[in-house]
Amino acid sequence: MPTFGGVNGPGTGSFRFRCAAMATKADYYELLGVPRDASAEDVKKAYRRLALQYHPDRNREPGAEERFKEISEAYAVLSDAEKRKTYDQFGHAGFDERYTQEDIFRGADFGDMGFDMGSIFRTIFGAGFGGGPQGGRNLETSLEITLEDVANGGEKEVRVTRLERCESCGGSGAKPGTRPTRCPTCRGHGQVARQMRTPFGLVQTAGPCPQCGGRGEVVATPDPACKGEGRIQRTRTLNIRIPEGVPDGGTLRLRGEGEAGPDGFPDGDLYVHVRVKPHAVFQRDGDDLHVPVPLTFSQAALGDEVDVPLLEGKQDRIIIPAGTQGGEVFRLRGKGLPSLNGSRRGDLLAHARVYTPVKLSAEERKLFEELARLEGREPRKGFFSDLKKKLG
Ligand SMILES: [Zn+2]
Ligand SMILES: [Zn+2]
Repeated sequence: MPTFGGVNGPGTGSFRFRCAAMATKADYYELLGVPRDASAEDVKKAYRRLALQYHPDRNREPGAEERFKEISEAYAVLSDAEKRKTYDQFGHAGFDERYTQEDIFRGADFGDMGFDMGSIFRTIFGAGFGGGPQGGRNLETSLEITLEDVANGGEKEVRVTRLERCESCGGSGAKPGTRPTRCPTCRGHGQVARQMRTPFGLVQTAGPCPQCGGRGEVVATPDPACKGEGRIQRTRTLNIRIPEGVPDGGTLRLRGEGEAGPDGFPDGDLYVHVRVKPHAVFQRDGDDLHVPVPLTFSQAALGDEVDVPLLEGKQDRIIIPAGTQGGEVFRLRGKGLPSLNGSRRGDLLAHARVYTPVKLSAEERKLFEELARLEGREPRKGFFSDLKKKLG
């Protein structure tokens, strides 16, 4: 059988000088620091020692993670009798022709290493891998508030139905006076060996124990109050603080107000989606408010002082200059909504609306007719005189 380029030659410690530019892979035996005739037990011991040394949680030095991947690959190959034989026979090049990265890790036994492989693989291969024991779920609810609430902040009530920690047993699920016992399935580790799909292929690693859900303990005599669950469903009314300037559609996050976690695990959060009811008078545009200002013809033509309503109930007097056109906007600085980030308040924008009189008194009619003559027109007769003409 041919060998390839001596990469499986006797150990020289060359991996210590590897760099990215080097195409050849370090020898698996060298990586683990074991002789070529090392027993399966020696291989495992060597890997466990090195894995603890390069454990990403313990070793923050640059290159530690990379080393951990290398020794894990070496262990995956050398701990499997058939892969080890192929590697011995063909070396790296020949081995890599026969096995993909996925094959290398498939079926590898990473259990019983004395540390949590799941967390290590998650660190190296990215979040979402494996998945440890779960805390309480996050919950969502919605809350409708008024524009006044946006301006003033303050407290609001929301009702939420959620799993809460059982007061009777303190969350353990064990009948008061008894204690939970060690889980027989995982022997208290909370983790059991399982297969994971990773970028390196299927990996034998640890996941939460199906019997105890990762707690490591089981309840022999359940607490009757919660039937051994440690959690009880309750409906609560919570007072939540509305921040001034909260946007319509914004979400408030209340840490720890979601579902209680199983015993020993963190509680979920409560997300409150805020809806702001439309206001009868004011329209919101971010931190600015818009309000219409009704003006008569004479006010628009001659000018006046008018009161503009403010959201907090008071009003501000503004000067309408003579010759104001319908649709003109007057800006009242700082009279809008407070801003969520604490910066300058928004403005109030007063929109001039010139209203045409619908019902005229006899005197008003006379004055408008006079105005029409001044404009060089014969005033059109009113509705009743039109009607009389038609009736003859
Ligand atoms: Zn209980
Ligand atoms: Zn268990």
